[in-house]
Amino acid sequence: MQNSFSRISWLWCGFSTREWGDLSKESFRRRDTSFNTFAQSLGVTLENFVLMGQVHGNNVRIMNQRDAGSVIDQTDGLVTKEKGLVLVVQTADCLPILFADVSKKIIGVAHAGWRGTLAGIGASVVNSMTQLGSDPKDILIDSGPCLGPCHFEVKEDVFVLFKDKFGADKDINIERKGKTFLDLRKANFKLLLEAGINPLNIKTVGRCTYCQPENFFSFRRDGNDFRQMGWVGIKK
Ligand SMILES: [Zn+2]
Repeated sequence: MQNSFSRISWLWCGFSTREWGDLSKESFRRRDTSFNTFAQSLGVTLENFVLMGQVHGNNVRIMNQRDAGSVIDQTDGLVTKEKGLVLVVQTADCLPILFADVSKKIIGVAHAGWRGTLAGIGASVVNSMTQLGSDPKDILIDSGPCLGPCHFEVKEDVFVLFKDKFGADKDINIERKGKTFLDLRKANFKLLLEAGINPLNIKTVGRCTYCQPENFFSFRRDGNDFRQMGWVGIKK
């Protein structure tokens, strides 16, 4: 699926739809045909990919060539300035976020579910990119399909945590017909702005994973382990 990074010629980037089949960590580890076919479509091999353990935290790691072809445990964000690495975030309802500093050619990915959002995973990626030399004002953001505010119903315990974090922002903490919902995208965008990202540099392809069974896997809807993915890499 095309995104706002697609115009940047030196990047591999995008968000997959379910026509590619399951692109989960398990699929990668099994060397499934779906993953190999996907790699071939980019013109890379599985050894170019770097995946994350994804534990709903805010740990970010800086990747080098020696990390190629691996799954990095205990992490929900990756950054690199190395060519040839394709950083991957796998999702079914969580928000996949891609980062690109077009000035310094530094990139990143984040996996943001509600826990990671509260933990500030997006800002952690921005911080790690800054360590590599990025100025936040040069960082472009794009984000993929996730469980939308139409379907991201949460119980009071989670809703209270978001109210504590985001205050009275009715665009993020939504009450509808006696039920409570979250807007994961807007929550993350707000935190990215606070991390110094220019609002004009934040984009999304939109889409609710639950609303579009023809296009996306949704854990909330399907309850299985199938995943789509977001990816960004600096071409060699
Ligand atoms: Zn929906």
